[in-house]
Amino acid sequence: MDTVSAEPQLAEPHLLGWLSSVGLDIDYVRAEGNTLYYLDENGGEVPVLDFAGGYGSLILGHNHPEISAYAQRLIASQTPVHAQFSRHPYANDVALALNRIIQRELGTDEYYSAIFANTGAEAVEAAVKHAEMDRGMRLRELADTLAENLAAARLAVFGGAAVAPEAFALVGLAGQAGRVSDFEALSAEIERHNAAQLGRPPVFLTLEGGFHGKLVGSVQLTHNEGYRAPFAALAAPARFVPAGSPEALKETVESERATVYDLVVEDNTVRVVERNSPVFCGFVLEPIQGEGGIHVLSAEFAREIQQVCAEIDCPVIIDEVQSGMGRTGDFLASSAIGLRGDYYTLAKSLGGGIAKTSVMLTRSSLYRPPFELVHSSTFAKDAFSCFISKKVLELLEADGGAAYRTARERGGKLKDMLEAVAADHPDVVKDVRGRGLMLGLEFHDQSGSASEAIRESAALLGYTAAGYLLREHRIRTFPTASAVNTLRFEPSLLLTDAEIRQLETGLRALCVVFREADGARLTGT
Ligand code: PMP
Repeated sequence: MDTVSAEPQLAEPHLLGWLSSVGLDIDYVRAEGNTLYYLDENGGEVPVLDFAGGYGSLILGHNHPEISAYAQRLIASQTPVHAQFSRHPYANDVALALNRIIQRELGTDEYYSAIFANTGAEAVEAAVKHAEMDRGMRLRELADTLAENLAAARLAVFGGAAVAPEAFALVGLAGQAGRVSDFEALSAEIERHNAAQLGRPPVFLTLEGGFHGKLVGSVQLTHNEGYRAPFAALAAPARFVPAGSPEALKETVESERATVYDLVVEDNTVRVVERNSPVFCGFVLEPIQGEGGIHVLSAEFAREIQQVCAEIDCPVIIDEVQSGMGRTGDFLASSAIGLRGDYYTLAKSLGGGIAKTSVMLTRSSLYRPPFELVHSSTFAKDAFSCFISKKVLELLEADGGAAYRTARERGGKLKDMLEAVAADHPDVVKDVRGRGLMLGLEFHDQSGSASEAIRESAALLGYTAAGYLLREHRIRTFPTASAVNTLRFEPSLLLTDAEIRQLETGLRALCVVFREADGARLTGT
């Protein structure tokens, strides 16, 4: 099934060995629509039905004919692909197209500024960097205001103003009488307290189960400990909040909250007031968790997050890298649950299955233009990716958004099938989740199976299941990265009824294999 080479294997041979142990080390040679092909021993093409969908990057399928033809035209006409530090009107066209869609979906006329990048994780890191730059600027503005107000209060005290007695108690100097001579003690304590609060490192809030990439910064926002813990010393840690628990959210926020003391002069009296200090850099979240096992955020909890973030001035950074681009039946999965982001990240299908590109959007009221001078990449915002992205957006928007309706309709049909399989095999299938063409099916734990082979594979169940589906049913799917009992189904808009039936046949057979504890069948040994 694969082309075996006598050359040394230097490109991730460990991973390849592992894939081969579960029968997933296929050398695909061609792809179109929802189908990948490998060559059999006679050189004949063997089709494999692809439900992994490039881990969400193929909303239009493999090698969509219009995208392919356009890409060929771009190259044939010698489009200047790499022209960093030039006008880039094509990048602005993508930003405008994205804004038109997002403004329509959110019912707003506020613009979002676009910073282009290359991968999903990079877009997340760009958002986090921008949010931190903004936080730094807000901190400096606050520090200046506090210093000005303290100077004004000192002047007022020299001019005869009183200091409110409760001011001392508030800053922890109870017992001081509030005499003018005590003002210096009060201001010294306030300055000490404020410097400590303003100097606190940023707090990132995110959700348990979330996945935001594997780069140095973004992996610390990714909940999976295996990915995150080895690199914990490299970047700021995040606070993980269980989705659906408003109490835990409030507790986390309270435990991290930072406040500073400000001085105001009213009625010839100096008083102390406590103000929020911008310690929260951002709340990073997926509206539908992909790698965490296809978990849909509820509208109620989304509302809670929105409210809490507004109270504490914490930007909401919505990671739509996997759920966006129409996959769930709306351009943004978050808009369907009424969640409004200060930042959005998009990647994967933005490149039409051919370009590697991503974008980070910041709402204009928060946007800091100097960011453009300190963040860039050689490859970001290149003409090829931008022209392809624009084409992808045109295809999604064509015929009054037919693509979104298709994602809902095809996704609905696929989900109906998955639910029917679950209903017939409640002992094997634990749950079916997701929306549109972002669906997951979770198996019950199999560590108690009567088959030793199945018990042994229980820790990586989804991979063994994927190996079985590929071998016996020519179906490609994978478990979600951080929840390996859940198989993902993220096909393109081209999904046919016949393809749904092929998956149904495979899944029903797989359920029987688990029920009958047929380890030999599952592992092909
Ligand atoms: N965020 C989300 C929600 C993702 O699903 C992924 C990839 N699975 C990423 C970020 C990282 O994207 P990339 O692999 O392109 O870096």
